[in-house]
Amino acid sequence: MRLPTFNKGVHPNDFKHFTCSLPVKSLPMPDHVLIPLQQHIGAPCTVNVEKGQEVKTGQVVGAGEAYVSSPVHSSVTGVVKDVGTFRHPLGSKVQMVYIQRKSEEDEWELMEPITDWQAAKVEDLNTRIKAAGIVGLGGAAFPTHVKLAPPKEKPIDAFILNGCECEPYLTADHRAMVEQADRILEGMAIIMKILGVTDGYIGIENNKPDAIQVMHEAVSRGGYDFKVVSLQVKYPQGAEKMLIQSVLNRQVPTGGLPMDVGVVVNNIGTAMAVTDAVKEGKPLVERIVTVTGDGVKEPQNVLARIGTPFIDIINLCGGLTDEAAQVFMGGPMMGMSQLDMKVPVIKATSGIVCTSDKGEAAEDAMPCIRCGTCVSACPMFLLPTRIARLSEVGQTEAADELGIMNCIECGSCAFVCPSRIPLVQWIRLGKLRVGEMKRKAAQDAA
Ligand code: SF4
Ligand code: SF4
Repeated sequence: MRLPTFNKGVHPNDFKHFTCSLPVKSLPMPDHVLIPLQQHIGAPCTVNVEKGQEVKTGQVVGAGEAYVSSPVHSSVTGVVKDVGTFRHPLGSKVQMVYIQRKSEEDEWELMEPITDWQAAKVEDLNTRIKAAGIVGLGGAAFPTHVKLAPPKEKPIDAFILNGCECEPYLTADHRAMVEQADRILEGMAIIMKILGVTDGYIGIENNKPDAIQVMHEAVSRGGYDFKVVSLQVKYPQGAEKMLIQSVLNRQVPTGGLPMDVGVVVNNIGTAMAVTDAVKEGKPLVERIVTVTGDGVKEPQNVLARIGTPFIDIINLCGGLTDEAAQVFMGGPMMGMSQLDMKVPVIKATSGIVCTSDKGEAAEDAMPCIRCGTCVSACPMFLLPTRIARLSEVGQTEAADELGIMNCIECGSCAFVCPSRIPLVQWIRLGKLRVGEMKRKAAQDAA
């Protein structure tokens, strides 16, 4: 039987063998953590601790008061040593709270558990999700409480739990499904109660047969009415719009959102965080990170506290190999190459991928041979070669007209380009310029 999937996309080599069978290992507590006040899409948090102040694990150190924002919490018990700007894994320098851990204590500040969540009010459950600082843990880091409160004119009739993990190296969600299926499914049930939907799907690519089996068993053991959907292996199937097409054969319109077709999608890690926040009152202060690639000596899946410097985690995994050439946050397709190993794990850090591959230098790019391969690969039906070129020559308006803002930066076009043109870098730059252009137009019009 042919398994479902979406149109277009690519098949990068699979490097999951490094870690897919390794159980998640808890790391020793870090000596210090750096908690960025911006770890999500939306307004940054305002710091609410002072230098010298003692904090507990789970205590709010940055309040996310705006609706589209998310608070950040201390991930250790310790003392605030500094509030200043430090390098963020997404590149820029942002305000962070530097907390020195105090001895071996791990004293938590928990919220009141909502044990009987079935009887709780939807508003109270969603308020809890905001208070716990839960954002999309698949990488997008969009505040979950906002996603779970779509406007009334966008009725939702289906929920999809995203177990694709289509990035070639990552196995954090895979291991979570194998090891924590009940916790994940309870989070899914809480999310579906908040959304008021009864149709729930779990999309998993069929390169994770153990996860598919465990999730099937857990669904039946828990008496849930969720459908586990095995999908063909294809990148970028974990992107929401692609997953919705694969699972439900619904097409999100160009420029639209999943809610335009009545769907909400959440990631595996997000569902686990929801269970912890609701049933145990635990804020989001740790996550599973896949540390992998031929550039690290002992690849592992680790449970890391948010704010732990990359270098500490890499060293706990045996350190970098002599051949290591690049370190990414996330996978090599959509991840960010890192220059500074002291950057902290953030809520969106699904993986730390260390490779001996030096990557393509921009000067190695050859002229476009108009082969159209990038067009065939683009899951968003864009013309990558055209929009990248328009960005390169500064024709921002024309790039906007060709839909550059619809690019999900999946990297499929650059992956297949025989001329090794850095298409995604040009497109990212073009998107920034379109954003600036629109902001300026709005200011001029005000
Ligand atoms: S243009 Fe954007 S969406 Fe299309 S393949 Fe390239 S990176 Fe992906
Ligand atoms: S794949 Fe590369 S060479 Fe082929 S059309 Fe696209 S940009 Fe040009």
